[in-house]
Amino acid sequence: MKYINEIDIKGKRVLCRFDFNVPLDDNLHITDDRRIKAALPTINYALDEDAKVIIISHLGRPKGARVESFSLAPVAKRLSRLLGKEVALAKDCVGDDVERLIQGMEPRCVIMLENLRFHKEETENSPDFASKLACYGDVYVDDAFGNAHRSHASNVGITKFAKVCCAGFLMKKELNYFGTTLEDPLRPFVAIVGGSKVSGKLEALANLIKKVDKMIIGGGLAFTFLKAMGYEVGTSLVEDNLISTARRSLKIAKERGVKLYLPVDCVIAEKAEPKAVTKIVPIQEIDPNWMGLDIGPATIALFREVLTDAKTIMWNGPMGVFEIDAFSMGTFSMVHAVAQSHALTIVGGGDTDVAVHRTGESDSITYISTGGGASLELLEGKTLPAVDALYKCAKKAK
Ligand code: AMP
Repeated sequence: MKYINEIDIKGKRVLCRFDFNVPLDDNLHITDDRRIKAALPTINYALDEDAKVIIISHLGRPKGARVESFSLAPVAKRLSRLLGKEVALAKDCVGDDVERLIQGMEPRCVIMLENLRFHKEETENSPDFASKLACYGDVYVDDAFGNAHRSHASNVGITKFAKVCCAGFLMKKELNYFGTTLEDPLRPFVAIVGGSKVSGKLEALANLIKKVDKMIIGGGLAFTFLKAMGYEVGTSLVEDNLISTARRSLKIAKERGVKLYLPVDCVIAEKAEPKAVTKIVPIQEIDPNWMGLDIGPATIALFREVLTDAKTIMWNGPMGVFEIDAFSMGTFSMVHAVAQSHALTIVGGGDTDVAVHRTGESDSITYISTGGGASLELLEGKTLPAVDALYKCAKKAK
């Protein structure tokens, strides 16, 4: 696969696909601009090469209609502030206004096209739409890791029409941390898997068991495993149809010599509510009408100990319902434990990323992914469609 620094982009029109799907509050203010900041190395490199930078992205799910609250206007404004230069926003992502703006571009100019998902053709991966987008650049750069697990016109379809295709620096970093590290980790390699359901993490668990030395399972999905081991888990989140799968995973881990750690105690309540009465109990003593909503202090101590000799730690999914204070201690303690470890630490995006930032430990983590869904697919051992498309382009160009 080619990266932007391996392609001649001097003075050229560089069409960059980023994932600027950032969270906005009710007043349409950006509440977290990390995805925009993560694009700066690629944009600055292109500007240093005197390129004309044309940015495409999606924001939210407007479902093929023009919805003003999903306009990229706040993103263009924030990017302009971060770059210290004007970023004009086209009225649409295709059509006359876009062509006029691009024709008037000087080298080192940046423009942003309006939300790709204002057109249903984007998510439908329409070849016609993809070819229109491809015409806007001499070189196409995909740096939208957060969208790389989707097959859309702007990241997969477009590669059939773009003259030259390559990936940006963010894509390189993400693929390096999740791909290369998974294939050749420094050992002991520990995976921490949490979150709500086994079904959402099943493929990742199966793939990771083949690669890790130790695996920590927390969060809601631990209860399906605990039930598979014969414990009564009250009304905790359990996927009964996956109990036999969980039992199989336990067996595979044992056969492979992978050390698997499950909670030994938990915080329970009758409901996952902020004012609920809570108790800390060993997992053998979960009341029939109560549910496990966080790992307990003994488990925190155990999991901490598991991490002490780790050289690589990969973490996806919180240890409890951390959005509610009463059930957040387990996740936040694990963030500190991971941050204080001497290992290479890699955190999947999404909820785990939110938890890390809430504790203020993000600078102590080696790498935090900008794409929850995409990084999970890499943990599952899948090839991302957008990455596959870039590989095919590189092969064709040879
Ligand atoms: P996921 O998207 O699968 O990583 O799940 C993240 C969600 O899992 C968070 O919103 C947590 O509140 C939730 N979660 C974590 N632990 C539990 C638990 N013990 N019971 C129910 N939900 C949980």
